[in-house]
Amino acid sequence: LFNCKRRLNPFNTLMKIGVTGCAGRMGRMLVREVLLADGCTIAGGTEEPGHTAIGQDVAETAGLEACGLEITDDSDALFAASDAVIDFTIAPVTESHTRLSVKHVTNLVLGTTGHEGYQLDTIEAAAKHIPIVKAMNFSVGVNVLFALTKQLAGMLDEDFDIEIVEMHHRDKVDAPSGTALELAEAAASGRGVNLKHVADRGRDGITGRRKNGNIGLAALRGGDVVGEHDVVFAGASERIKLSHIATSREIFSKGALRAALWSEGMAPGLYDMLDVLGVSSQHT
Ligand code: NAD
Repeated sequence: LFNCKRRLNPFNTLMKIGVTGCAGRMGRMLVREVLLADGCTIAGGTEEPGHTAIGQDVAETAGLEACGLEITDDSDALFAASDAVIDFTIAPVTESHTRLSVKHVTNLVLGTTGHEGYQLDTIEAAAKHIPIVKAMNFSVGVNVLFALTKQLAGMLDEDFDIEIVEMHHRDKVDAPSGTALELAEAAASGRGVNLKHVADRGRDGITGRRKNGNIGLAALRGGDVVGEHDVVFAGASERIKLSHIATSREIFSKGALRAALWSEGMAPGLYDMLDVLGVSSQHT
C-alpha cells in the first residue's frame, strides 16, 4: 500500500509535502525550504487549534509571496493531501499525527523531540505501516558527530570520563536536548553499555564523586542560541573535545526536506538521518 497515492498519479512529478506547526520557528523555515526547492510542492500547513496564524497564507507566514493556501487546524485534511508530512511541533501531538500518517498512507519526517517512552512506542508501531524518518537532529554535521562520538568512545576506556554539554535558546522546553541524548546513546553504544545504566543527568547539590564509566549530560539555556553540542572525553592530564555549533536552523530544515524527498518509495520502517545520508547507523 505504501506510497500508493503517488503511484495512482504517475503524471504528478512534484512530491506534495505538508508542514505541521507551519507558523513555528522550524515550521516557517520548512515551508520556505519546500516552496523554494525543486521536485516538490507545498500541500498545506497546519497550526494548533486557536493559533493566531490560522487563516493566514502559508507562504506569507514564511516570508514569501502568497501561494493561496490558508493555514488550518485540520490535520486530517493535511495528511490526506500530502505525500509526506514534515512535523516539527510538540511531543504530545505525535500520537495523533502518526495515526493520521497510517490512515492516509503518508510518509512522515519527524523532527519533534522530547518524547516519552509510550510516545516512542506509537512511532515504532506506525513505522510498521509507513516510512518514518525520525532524527533528533537533521543536520549533516551533527550526524557525523554521532558517528565520531561512537568511534572515539570505543577507542577510549573508562579512564576518560564522557560529558556532554549542550546549549540552546531560552525558549526550548525540553532538556537535555534530543541531540545530546542521541550523542550519549552513541557514546554508550561505542562502549558497549546501556545508556540507562550510565546516564548521569541533572547533577545538583551533594552528588558524591563521579562514578567511573558514567556519561554526564548538562544543559545550558539562554539567548537565541540555535544549538551547540560538546562531547568531552576527560582523562588524566588531557582532554579531547568534539564540538558542533549550529548558526542557523537552515541546517535542520534542509536536512528534513532531504529526508522527505528520500522517503519517497521507501518501504515502511523507522529510518534516521544516517540512513538518508547513506552512512551506516550508529546503533548497528
Ligand atoms: P516552535 O514552538 O517555534 O514551533 C512549534 C509549532 O508547533 C508552534 O507553532 C505550535 O503552535 C505548533 N503546534 C503545536 N501543536 C500543534 C498541533 N496540534 N498541530 C499543528 N501545530 C501545532 O518550536 P520549534 O523551535 O520550531 O521546534 C519544534 C520542535 O522541533 C521541538 O520539539 C524542537 O526540539 C524540535 N527541533 C528538532 C530539530 C531536529 O533537527 N530534529 C531541530 C530544531 C528543532
